[in-house]
Amino acid sequence: ENNVSYKTTNPVTGLVEREFASLTPQEIDAAIGRADTEFTSWRAIAVSERAAILLRVAQIYRARTEELARIIATEMGKPVRQGMGEVGLVADIYEYYATLGPALIGDEDLKPARGGSAVVRSTPLGVLLGVMPWNYPYYQVARFAAPNLLLGNTILLKHASNCPQAALVQEEIFREAGLPEDAYINLFAQSNDVESIIADPRVRGVSLTGSERAGMAVAEAAGRSLKKFVLELGGSDPFIVLEVDDLEATIDAAVSGRMSNAGQACTAAKRFIVIDKHYDDFVAGFTSRVSKMVPGDPQQMATRFGPLSSLAGVTELVAQVRDATDQGAVLHTGGHRVGDRGSFMAASVLTGVTPQMRAFGEELFGPVGVIYKVADAAEAIALANTSSFGLGSAVFASDVDAAHAVADALDVGMVFINENTDSHVDLPFGGTKRSGVGRELGRFALDEFVNKKLIRTP
Ligand code: NAP
Repeated sequence: ENNVSYKTTNPVTGLVEREFASLTPQEIDAAIGRADTEFTSWRAIAVSERAAILLRVAQIYRARTEELARIIATEMGKPVRQGMGEVGLVADIYEYYATLGPALIGDEDLKPARGGSAVVRSTPLGVLLGVMPWNYPYYQVARFAAPNLLLGNTILLKHASNCPQAALVQEEIFREAGLPEDAYINLFAQSNDVESIIADPRVRGVSLTGSERAGMAVAEAAGRSLKKFVLELGGSDPFIVLEVDDLEATIDAAVSGRMSNAGQACTAAKRFIVIDKHYDDFVAGFTSRVSKMVPGDPQQMATRFGPLSSLAGVTELVAQVRDATDQGAVLHTGGHRVGDRGSFMAASVLTGVTPQMRAFGEELFGPVGVIYKVADAAEAIALANTSSFGLGSAVFASDVDAAHAVADALDVGMVFINENTDSHVDLPFGGTKRSGVGRELGRFALDEFVNKKLIRTP
C-alpha cells in the first residue's frame, strides 16, 4: 500500500499544498532494474555525447531560472533571489562537467618501471543511489549527478520528502535535455527503504548529503554490502577573526556567512571566534546588523531572509538556544519563533556558550550565531578544532601569512581566507571528521564512483 510521505508544506503558511505517494517495494525494484539495464547502453555511448546532454541540461536550468527558484521558495522557503543564485550555480556545474569533464576522465598513461605500457582508465561503476537534503534542492543533486552521468553511471535519486516538486522537475529537465529516461530516475522512496536499495546487488554505490544520523545509517548499510559511499554531512564551521584593518567589512561577511539561506547551510559560518581586541565591537556590530533582519516572504525579490524550511526546524533551534540560556549563556537578540503562521525564526546571537551546552557541540541549522572570545590565534585554533565536525572554515586577518598558519592547523576540509566558505564548480568540496568522507565538485568528484582500471601491456 502506498504511503503519502512526500509533501510540499509551504513554510510561509504551514499548509500542505501537494502530496505524492511513495513507491511500493515492487516499484522500487522495477526502477533499479531499469537503471541497471540502461547502464549498459549509457556507459557505451561516446563521452562527448554524454557531455552534450549535460550542456543542454545547463541551458535549460538557465532558461527556467526564476520558475525553478519559485518552486523551492514554496517548498523550503529559500528567498527567490537566493534560489536564482542556486540555479545559476547548478547550470555552471552541469556546464563545467560538460565542457571540461571529458578531458579529465581520459586514460592516464603511466610509465611502468619494468617497461612496457600501462594505462589507467576511469570506468563507471553502474547504478548509484543519491540521497539528498532539502536545503539546496537543485545544487545537491547537480554536484552528484553531473560528474557521475558524465562518467557513465546511472542514477536513482531519493530526494528529501519535503521537496517533491523540486525532485520531479529535475527528472523532467534531464528528459527534456535528451537524457535516456532510465539514466536518471527520481525515486519517491522512504528513508527506511534506503537500506534495502543499497543492499541490492545491482546498486554499486551511494552518495548522501544530510545529517550525521542519516550518514551513519547509509554508511552502515553500505558497509554491510561492501559498497562505495560518499557522505557530505553537517558542519559547525568556525569563522575566525584575527587582527583585521576593516572590522566593519569583516562583520558584513560574518552576517552573510551566517544568514544566507536563513542559516540552513552545512558550510554556513556558525562559530565566530574573535580575538580580544575586536570582540566587543564584533558582538555589537553583528548583533545590530542581524537584529534588523526581519524574516519575510521568500517569493519577494527583495527578501534576503526567509522562513526556515519547517516548523520542526524552528522548534529544534529554539530548544538549542533555550538550553544555552538556561545554563547561563547570553542571548543578545532573537531566540524565538516569529509570528504564529509558518516557520519564521528571529535572527539570534549567543555569547557565553560553554562546552556543556548543546549549542557548543551541535550544529545550529538556522539563523543563530554564537560568538566566542579568544586571546590569540593559538587559542582560536584550539577552540575551532574542538568540534566533532570538520567541514569548511573562514579566517579573516590582515596578515595573510598569519591566516595561512591558521589554515594549516585547522582540522577541516576547506579553509577560505578573507572570504566566506563557498562552492566553486572547479574546487573540491567536502569535509573530514564527522562532516563526512569523499569530495564533490571539480576534478575530485570524478574520482569517487569509478573503477580505475589498469590495462597493462609488456
Ligand atoms: P536528513 O534528515 O539527514 O535528510 C537528508 C536526506 O536523507 C533526506 O533525503 C532524508 O529523507 C534522508 N534520510 C534521513 N534519514 C535517513 C536514514 N536513516 N536512512 C537513509 N536516508 C535517510 O538531513 P536534513 O536535516 O534534511 O538536512 C540537513 C543536514 O544536511 C544538515 O546536517 C546539513 O549540515 C547537512 N548538509 C550537508 C552538506 C554537505 O555538503 N556537507 C550540504 C547540505 C546539507 P527524508 O526526507 O525522507 O527523511
